[in-house]
Amino acid sequence: MPISPEKKMDLLVSLCKRRGFIYPGSEIYGGFANSWDYGPYGAQLKKNIKDAWWNRFVIGRDDMVGIETPIIMHPKVWEASGHVATFSDPLVDCKKCKHRFRADHLMEVNQGMLGRCPLCTGELTDIKNFNLLFKTSIGVTEDTSHIAYLRPETAGGMFVAWKNVRDSARKRLPFGIAQVGKAFRNEITPGNFIFRTREFDQMEIEYFVRPEDSARAFEEWLIAMKAWVKNILKLQDANVVYHEIADVDRAFYSTRTIDVEYTYPFGTKELYGLANRSDYDLSRHAEASDMDLRYVDSANGEKILPHIIEPTWGLDRTVLAVLSEHLDIDEVDTAEGEGTEPRMVLRLPPLLAPVKVAILPLQKKEELVSIAKKISASCREKGLAVEYDESGSIGKRYRRQDEVGTPWCVTVDFDSVTDGACTVRSRDSMEQVRMDVGEIAGWVEEKIKMN
Ligand code: ATP
Repeated sequence: MPISPEKKMDLLVSLCKRRGFIYPGSEIYGGFANSWDYGPYGAQLKKNIKDAWWNRFVIGRDDMVGIETPIIMHPKVWEASGHVATFSDPLVDCKKCKHRFRADHLMEVNQGMLGRCPLCTGELTDIKNFNLLFKTSIGVTEDTSHIAYLRPETAGGMFVAWKNVRDSARKRLPFGIAQVGKAFRNEITPGNFIFRTREFDQMEIEYFVRPEDSARAFEEWLIAMKAWVKNILKLQDANVVYHEIADVDRAFYSTRTIDVEYTYPFGTKELYGLANRSDYDLSRHAEASDMDLRYVDSANGEKILPHIIEPTWGLDRTVLAVLSEHLDIDEVDTAEGEGTEPRMVLRLPPLLAPVKVAILPLQKKEELVSIAKKISASCREKGLAVEYDESGSIGKRYRRQDEVGTPWCVTVDFDSVTDGACTVRSRDSMEQVRMDVGEIAGWVEEKIKMN
């Protein structure tokens, strides 16, 4: 059943809080604007996305290695990259209502004009540039010689570690480095739930290629990103836009950039990015560090400064897209068999669902509970996230699992005691089939592989 975009966001935010996906941060102290806690289901969903990504793009490929670099690095990293000088957003304030806006966002909706305050029509201040780097200081004194920055992207760590990876990983061009971790930006206008926050997780790849191979590698990564969006996240084509960035809007060093945009309930906005960064990063760091960062071809001794293709994935924006895409309301028969009622259901792909299978003894009777616990244990042994729930009416327990996106519920009833079978209910079709107790864990495992 289609849900209107305005209603969808409210439903999503309240479902996330009620069921334990995402809560407002620091809530017992009155909240802290734009910070969010991932609850038990949210943290697991996020981890499942991260693991699926790492398995696919690092473990699953011969031309990739994964690394982990610090959040606080040498400040020269961000001077060389240009972030200290230019990583800023243009901001304007309304002189009347004091609201703050990103000038580029206002101009986007106003055909290139700044106009007046969209909230109160008040006059706007001149544009000021606001640097997004979070500053901190190291050690006991706070003078400028001790200033450091929280990384605004994970990419910087990979450019800096390139020399050591090149020398130790025994990889030949083309190959890539991947990293997942927190990034920090002092955003002027955070908002839209977890879409834009001041700290967020990125999953990034720097793919190093010979200059002449960069256009082809870009195409290959575009295909890889499309396959991820379609086959793993299962976002409908109609909700995803691959936006080719025009020459005038691209960073000066980039020869091609595509923004992958998703239609969130609040509009079509960036989900991921893919950029051909040329040799910008390695040449800047080579110059600033006075190091030779070229790659030496072991076959002929040729020295090459690789070009970089950078596919970048925001993890929190992925969580939001996945939740938004798969939230649904359908009509089901009431438990009493009189008419129908709405059912809220998160149709998460099984690979990503925080709980794979719920085990529900029909009643808290010892003979049912012992079978149910046996099934739970066999699922856990296979590494499947299980939820065991023995209280409340079976209808309510199904609804709860539907809302957290559990693909299958297994009900142990009195027949199970004599026939050694139980009922497996599918979240999406609501079909129920009988299955031998001993087969369930293997069946669920196979189904997840098919995703
Ligand atoms: P935007 O235009 O929305 O500010 P950006 O182009 O600055 O994004 P990048 O620098 O390309 O973003 O960062 C790579 C990815 O990191 C983005 O595609 C997005 O998924 C994620 N990301 C960037 N900023 C934020 C943020 N403030 N909160 C959550 N995720 C973010």
